[in-house]
Amino acid sequence: MTDTIPASANTDSTVDIPRIFTVSESAHRIHNPITAEKLATLGAALRLDVGTRVLDLGSGSGEMLCTWARDHGIVGTGVDKSQLFNAQAKRRAVELGVAARVSFIHADATGYIADEKVGVAACLGATWIGGGMAGTIELLARSLISGGTILIGEPYWRQLPPSEEAAKGCLATAISDFLMLPELIASCGSLGYDVVEMVLADQDSWDRYEAAKWLNMRQWLDANPGDEFAADVRTKLTTEPERYATYTREYLGWGVFALMKR
Ligand code: SAH
Repeated sequence: MTDTIPASANTDSTVDIPRIFTVSESAHRIHNPITAEKLATLGAALRLDVGTRVLDLGSGSGEMLCTWARDHGIVGTGVDKSQLFNAQAKRRAVELGVAARVSFIHADATGYIADEKVGVAACLGATWIGGGMAGTIELLARSLISGGTILIGEPYWRQLPPSEEAAKGCLATAISDFLMLPELIASCGSLGYDVVEMVLADQDSWDRYEAAKWLNMRQWLDANPGDEFAADVRTKLTTEPERYATYTREYLGWGVFALMKR
């Protein structure tokens, strides 16, 4: 599908994400602690009509749009800053036979507003695009039809970390970076939205996201021993499993929240 690219899109071909992600998440179809099964549960839970337009900012390798186009007949546009993930998304669309229903734009999604309004506007695990959750909800709302649904994928504390050091171990900058689940839900209410659905990660789905990075890194190291980036990847592979098991797996939750304006 060819979409007209809105003037709000920064499509500079040099736009990209840090290299570590394209090594550690090279074989991921879903770049979040949510499994294919949970993504399918979410798609079914939303009761999507055939032909619903879906916008996805930070669409990664396109798994949500491609599978929902196949399973629910949605029409989708994804915007992502990674050249590799965007290329993978286009290949996945062809593989699932939905290339006529979804399009993927390689661009920085900061400030991105769709030319034609959508029934579902999503940002899963990339809310820095709008400067945080509130700003991203505001940005997505500008592309949404009245009565449409916003999807936000965001971390929360499963258990409050006992110290700022433990929060840093979860790769947060501070405990104040995230809320507990009831507070996160309450914050959506304060922004004027009903939370109408949610699908949450669990420790097993976190493992599918995090532990899959380790094999990606190991296989990359074995294939690229002389690469100038190899020392960085080696350090990460040596330290990540223990860091993850100690901190993220214990303290960090993650979920997708479906919101409708009150
Ligand atoms: N929503 C996808 C990807 C989540 S990972 C999924 O669930 O699989 C975060 C994604 O945001 C990555 O694909 C990364 O390339 C993308 N990204 C990061 N900053 C971005 C920006 N400013 N604009 C567009 N995409 C961005």
